[in-house]
Amino acid sequence: MTQQLFNTLSRTKEVFTPTTPGHVGMYLCGPTVYSDAHLGHGKTATAFDIVRRWFEYSGHKVRFVSNITDVGHITDDASDTGRDRINERAKLEKLEPMEIADAYMWGYFDDMARLGIKKPSITPRATGHILEQIALVQRLIERGLAYERAGSVYFRVRAFPGYGKLSGRKIDELEVGTREDVREDKDDPLDFALWKFAEPEHIMRWDSPWGEGFPGWHIECSAMALKYLGEGFDIHAGGMDLQFPHHEAEIAQTEGAGYEFARYWMHGNMLTVNGEKMSKSKGNFLTLKDFYAKSDPMLLRFIFAQSHYRSVAELTDETVQAAHSGLSRLREARRELERRISDAPDGSDAKLEGAAKLARETFTSAMNDDFNTPEALAALFNLTREVNTALQGNPAKAGLEAALAVYVDLMDGVLGFTGGAADLGGSSAGLLDGLLEIAIEARKTYRQTRDFAKSDALRDRLKSLGVTLEDTATGTRWKLE
Ligand SMILES: [Zn+2]
Repeated sequence: MTQQLFNTLSRTKEVFTPTTPGHVGMYLCGPTVYSDAHLGHGKTATAFDIVRRWFEYSGHKVRFVSNITDVGHITDDASDTGRDRINERAKLEKLEPMEIADAYMWGYFDDMARLGIKKPSITPRATGHILEQIALVQRLIERGLAYERAGSVYFRVRAFPGYGKLSGRKIDELEVGTREDVREDKDDPLDFALWKFAEPEHIMRWDSPWGEGFPGWHIECSAMALKYLGEGFDIHAGGMDLQFPHHEAEIAQTEGAGYEFARYWMHGNMLTVNGEKMSKSKGNFLTLKDFYAKSDPMLLRFIFAQSHYRSVAELTDETVQAAHSGLSRLREARRELERRISDAPDGSDAKLEGAAKLARETFTSAMNDDFNTPEALAALFNLTREVNTALQGNPAKAGLEAALAVYVDLMDGVLGFTGGAADLGGSSAGLLDGLLEIAIEARKTYRQTRDFAKSDALRDRLKSLGVTLEDTATGTRWKLE
């Protein structure tokens, strides 16, 4: 079966063929670490974490590179007149810029871990790759695509004929929308900064052939993607908002320097909160920490997976509630399979094994079709229905094992719903399962010795912690409120 993916460059679904069979090289634009990660960061990270996990599940070795922008991202992307975001934040908080960058970088990693995002294979930082960026800028000057003015270096956009091919914009139309407050030292308002002259008050500065300065934002991704993934690597990914100007600039810089860049470009769509794009002025702007303070991080992951990565995800009270009941159904079926497996009779169960096989096949064709996670999830829900019916009887072990393997491989492994309840990270889910199992056994012993006062007290204490026990014909189950 072939893997299809939507390539933004061609605006069509294409068959994905890795440069080296069995290996996938992916680059994802990471965060600028000057504030807490918001829900949009979570959506992009989840989308490409699932893509990566899917490639791994289907037998590829993935090198996943995602950078940390700790210098050069200015406050106004549209012109080069803004100020460096990290530098500004450092002034505001009266801290060393690296303190800002590190504090928010570690915060970002924590937020991502709770969302079940796997660590990148390589996390290059822009400040750790100044030499590579300077070398690339020099090469662009030598090739006539860049020029120096007063200590800054600019990319000559009109000298690169492919500019606009990713976002579909035309150079002549761009000019109309360009703001008036352009820097006077540029030859053309369309040109963008590769290297910026550092004013005396600018704290982050490095020596360069053009004097002391710091890199422009776009150049780091070209330099670091080439360094760690090589020419003509497989997939470059990012949020849709980065298509222009950031990714367009990355292509211009890399191809302009004579290197082949990414062969496939993937872009994840945004999300709405209460029906509108997130914005501080509308009061619907949420950081990941805001969400985690109230809800299980896995609910957010579930909401993201429920819409295709190229569609808009919607966060409302209703979608959180629906995610809660959907995810609970999957988790309960999985837990019940685990609980029943050791006492199940030996032998096979054609119906359950057939349902497991069908779920795996349906999930696979959905993912091969441009990572269609909503359809992949639907396959798991269909299996859950079959599992719940089967568990009313006494299915044989092989059937339970086949079904459980689907949850382990696809729900945990590919979709990454491994986290437990609110405030629990991924690896703590198993711990919670185990601890509650002990509590359930203790209660069983009390009941067997007819010590109902203690058995009720134990149940009430769990209830006050948000854990409900349910006695069924096949034993006691637990549920989180
Ligand atoms: Zn980038």
